This record gives sequence, structure tokens and C-alpha cells, in this order.
Amino acid sequence: MNDHRKLGRELELFDTDPLIGAGLPYWLPDGAAVRHALEEYVREAERRAGYRHVYSPVLGKRELYEISGHWSHYSEDMFPPMDLGGEQVVLRPSLCPHHAVIFRSRGRSYRDLPLRMAELGGMFRAELSGVLGGLTRVRAIQLNDAHIFCRLDQVADEVQSALELIREAHRALGIEAARYRLSLPGKGGKYVADPELWRRAGALLVQVLEEAGIPYEEAGGEAAFYGPKIDVQVVDGAGRESTLSTVQVDFHQPARFDLGYIGPDGKRHRPVMVHRAVIGSVERAVAHLIEVHGGAFPAWLAPVQVLALPLSEEQRPAAEALVRRCIGAGLRAELAGPEHGTLGARVRAGRLVPYQAVIGPAEAAADQVSLRLRDGSRLPARPTAEAVEQVLAGVAVRPS
Ligand SMILES: [Zn+2]
Repeated sequence: MNDHRKLGRELELFDTDPLIGAGLPYWLPDGAAVRHALEEYVREAERRAGYRHVYSPVLGKRELYEISGHWSHYSEDMFPPMDLGGEQVVLRPSLCPHHAVIFRSRGRSYRDLPLRMAELGGMFRAELSGVLGGLTRVRAIQLNDAHIFCRLDQVADEVQSALELIREAHRALGIEAARYRLSLPGKGGKYVADPELWRRAGALLVQVLEEAGIPYEEAGGEAAFYGPKIDVQVVDGAGRESTLSTVQVDFHQPARFDLGYIGPDGKRHRPVMVHRAVIGSVERAVAHLIEVHGGAFPAWLAPVQVLALPLSEEQRPAAEALVRRCIGAGLRAELAGPEHGTLGARVRAGRLVPYQAVIGPAEAAADQVSLRLRDGSRLPARPTAEAVEQVLAGVAVRPS
């Protein structure tokens, strides 16, 4: 498999600069296009699955993390607090506390549950510089996060639906899970001390995995500090395993934030929080996609979907018209003219683009396009409008 750091630079997807800092990559236009398509896909899949999206700030007061438990259990991964007008604010290490506060901000009834709150939001991790590189260990992370606030008897269904959403996304993205890991607590003070809570949450996850017939392995010392989780593991080009997607059950933060809803009995009850990430962090997901596909992304994710190749300067106006038409139809299209070399050289340079449109004198005169696919096959020339429709249909396909 490929190394995403090398390919990412070659394909001009992302880069880093010592002046910005280690672990703080920036995204070039082609990388940003992939990321944008990925984020749009995730939001759309979440909307279909009944999530509502929110935005919350990347900073929070120190007290927020003292309540959530991050301050006592997770502080070594957090950036130091900043003093600001007599109080301390920190770059957030997770989105959960903000979402818990948003849940708490309105009166909630059992009819509102399960309440599925999603956000593609920024968070920060104080990684040591020694382990940084590429997109896999970064200090500023865009997390595809969500929190489902639900009744205890809804937890199993919600965990199962989250696993289904993860599997659907992996199919669309062409990602294969290496294994499912049931991540349990280990020894030491990193974990919230409440054996009964861990037992109940762990039993719920096991129940879902077994009912779905998903093989899994248990791993001690890999849980979140507040609860156990199901981690969907992937393997990179060097054979290193990492967590891409995750589903977690949490009884701890609802209690810490004193979350409540009014039940059918008119009394106040405590919801459970299910944390889940479908693609995990956008950075890690794109790194994995680059390696899995060797840069030849599925057409719907490709940074450039159509490359117009005029044979000579004379066909430039026809090629420009094709590009405008494609962009107008919502496609990502570019033109590579004769200044970039012979037609053969341009075809090779654009080999990762799903659709190449070579425009010679005959095509330009007839307002036709002959599409060339990545496998080298060519579709018969057809009117430009039809060719654009054909590309649109091809780009709309996501394996399911
Ligand atoms: Zn969370």
C-alpha cells in the first residue's frame, strides 16, 4: 500500500510548513475538494439517519472540562489553559461537554429521545512533536462526532444503528474494517472509578455485537476514560492498526452534567449518552482513503472528476465550454491544454481523474465528447449534453 504522506504531497492534497508548526497540516485545493465531498457525504448520511447538526465553539472554560472529567482523566493530552480576563479557557479535547450543555439548555421530554446531535467540529490534542507526520497524528483535529441522548432501553438500538451507519459509510468509501475491538478499561487512575457503570455499559455493547453476529476482540486499556467502546480498526500501508470509527456508551457525563428529561410518569430521568464517530477524524479518514485508493478516489470523492483535453489550441474554446458546463452541473472539472505537453503526456498526468474528455477537431465541430475512463477504456463520442449526464450518473454512484 501507499504512504499517504508521500502521495499527499505528490498529488498536492495537503502539506505542512515548519512556520505553521508540526502536526498542523494545511489542505491544498485538491485535498480540500476531497475533504469537502467527504464531509458533505457524512452530513447527508447523518441527516438520513435522523441526526440534527449543531455548531459549538472550539474553546471552553476550564470548569467545563473539570465537570466532564477531562481535566482529571485526560489533561496530559490537552493543551495548557490560556488566562483570559481572570478566567481560564482551553482548546477543547472533545466535543462531548459542549453537546451535553446544549442538551441541558432546553427542557427535554421522553418524546424528544433519542435525540441525535451531530457536529463536524474542531478539537485539539497536545501530541508530542516526535509522533507527528502527515494527517494521522495531528494537533488540530476535525472530528465527525455525534452524541445520542436516549433512554437506557434505547441504547442497544442506537448502538446497532450507529454500527450500520458506519458499515454503510465504509462501503461507500471503499474502506474495509480490519477488525472490531471491544475496548475496555485497564488498570490505573485514567478511568472513572465505578465498576457497576463499566459492567452495564460493557454488557450493552457485547449484546449488540453478538446480536449482529459481529466477531470482535476485547482489549483492556483502550476504553475512553468515561466508558467502554466498540472501535472499528483499519490497517495502514505499513501494517499499523488504528481506530477509524467508534461507538461508546457513557453513563458518566450525563451524571456529571446532571442531564435529565421528563418521563411519561412526569418525573425527571437521566438519559444515557452514546458517543459515535462514523469516519472518526476527517484527517485520519482522508489519510486512509489516500492509501487505500492510491490517490484514485471513487469518482464521487475525486478532487477533479472531469479533465478536458483539447488536442490543440484550436479546440480550447470547446474544452472551456465543456468545463463550464460540467461546473454548472455541479461537477469538479479542469482543463489541461497543450501548454502541459503532448496529449499522451496529459493523459498520463491526469490518469487518476475518473473521466477524461479528449476534444479534437471532429468533436469540437460536432459539439461532441469522447470520454476516456481510468481503466483506459473509451466510450463512444456523444453529444456534450449527454456526456455530461453520463458523468453525473457515474459520479452519483456510491457502492452500497
Ligand atoms: Zn463524545
